[in-house]
Amino acid sequence: MTLRRTFSTGLAALALLGSAVLPTGCSTVPVTGRQQLNLIPSSTILSMSNDEYDVFLKEHRLSGNASQSQMVHRVGGRIQQAVETYFRQHDLASQLNGYAWEFNLVEDKAANAWCMPGGKVVVYTGILPITQTEAGLAVVMGHEIAHAVAEHGNERMSQGLLTQLGGLALSEALQSKPTQTRQLWMTAFGLGAQVGALLPFSRLQETEADRLGLIFMAMAGYDPNEAVSFWQRMAANSSGAPPEFLSTHPSDKTRIDGIKKTIPEAMRYYNPS
Ligand SMILES: [Zn+2]
Repeated sequence: MTLRRTFSTGLAALALLGSAVLPTGCSTVPVTGRQQLNLIPSSTILSMSNDEYDVFLKEHRLSGNASQSQMVHRVGGRIQQAVETYFRQHDLASQLNGYAWEFNLVEDKAANAWCMPGGKVVVYTGILPITQTEAGLAVVMGHEIAHAVAEHGNERMSQGLLTQLGGLALSEALQSKPTQTRQLWMTAFGLGAQVGALLPFSRLQETEADRLGLIFMAMAGYDPNEAVSFWQRMAANSSGAPPEFLSTHPSDKTRIDGIKKTIPEAMRYYNPS
């Protein structure tokens, strides 16, 4: 999915459907300045996120490993501060309205992690053998938090409403097709469990999350060079990985080459602790 396609699909659907879709307009991705089409009001996004997050935590057990859980809190808190500083410095602080950050480590063998809009971050214990170090964990958490604050989930959900549910507004979709809509939501926000699920993050979104994530981890005091070795370890471990960490999306080599090119930019933000 490219931006051009997102827009042309979106505009064509809007033209066809008239008032069936109520766009909240375009928004701009921090750092990259890319325009994106987000159709779902952020208040709706935040309340659905909080609901899904509560359900997820009821169905999963928190890690009993105190030092690993503390590490997840520590890394998350430092990246949160970096994000808030970046947004404040760029007059974007209002985009974080309604955020109430939480960082949890859950017992799950999958090598996965996600951040819901609103700052609800979950790391699965199965990714810790691959992150290995605190800086490695900062790569993952920086990347996931970047997807959230760049509103990639809203963009994917909007795309899904247009292409899969015939351009229904979210409220109508929830009433007429609740199961399908919830599945779409889970996939759009990174909770989809199946490999090859619909609507993986686009390559463009992945590249954006890598770039923003490197900047946020650098501001948080973690060396962005650590991202290269983390993604090399992830590439070696990618069999059975969930969609977010599939080695093919984007290909490992493309991703690692892109990260290497972005490191000099991130180093300008590096604030060693
Ligand atoms: Zn990603």
